Amino acid sequence: MSPENFVYVENFIPLPALFYSFETGEPFSHCVDCGKALLQDGTVYLIQKAFNRTEVILEFAYCQACYQGLEAAYSRETMTNLWDFVLDSVNLDERTRRLLSDSPTSIEPWIESCLTCGSKKSDLKSYVLVALCDGRDLLFHHLPYMFCEACEMKMCALMSRRSRDTWERWIEDNLDVPPTVMEDIREGRIVLI
Ligand SMILES: [Zn+2]
Ligand SMILES: [Zn+2]
Repeated sequence: MSPENFVYVENFIPLPALFYSFETGEPFSHCVDCGKALLQDGTVYLIQKAFNRTEVILEFAYCQACYQGLEAAYSRETMTNLWDFVLDSVNLDERTRRLLSDSPTSIEPWIESCLTCGSKKSDLKSYVLVALCDGRDLLFHHLPYMFCEACEMKMCALMSRRSRDTWERWIEDNLDVPPTVMEDIREGRIVLI
């Protein structure tokens, strides 16, 4: 196998059940925002799942266009602040290289500790998982990763009021979120990056 093939072949796996929709027990089939079908090859999308202990409290998949649209709606200052926070905490390229070499087909090492502070998932009450997918596959790049609640709150505090309003409105427009979870979102315990 050539080095190019090695990178290519080891870069994705069939979507693990952890990233299936908890609600349906199946992979997410459509973008929560625009309704685009997601499961054919070549369709890139993100999955985000928020957990409270083992309970899934928020989950959705959204396509690249909708993801980029939401990101574009955030202020430039917000995006700069968020990425400064992440990149000051972790060397993403180094992490990706290490994990691709050590764990090219298992997601657990990618999500077992918080991307930015290193807290272990097993010690956390609440956390968020994010995965990048293509059709029925999960792609290993900088993702998948996990953020703990404390880091989610730090990131939320780095967002402008307007960007937070954008995020809250996006959730309200696209998801049927229980009041308690909406409260978590308003208080900055769940954010999206
Ligand atoms: Zn979409
Ligand atoms: Zn953290």
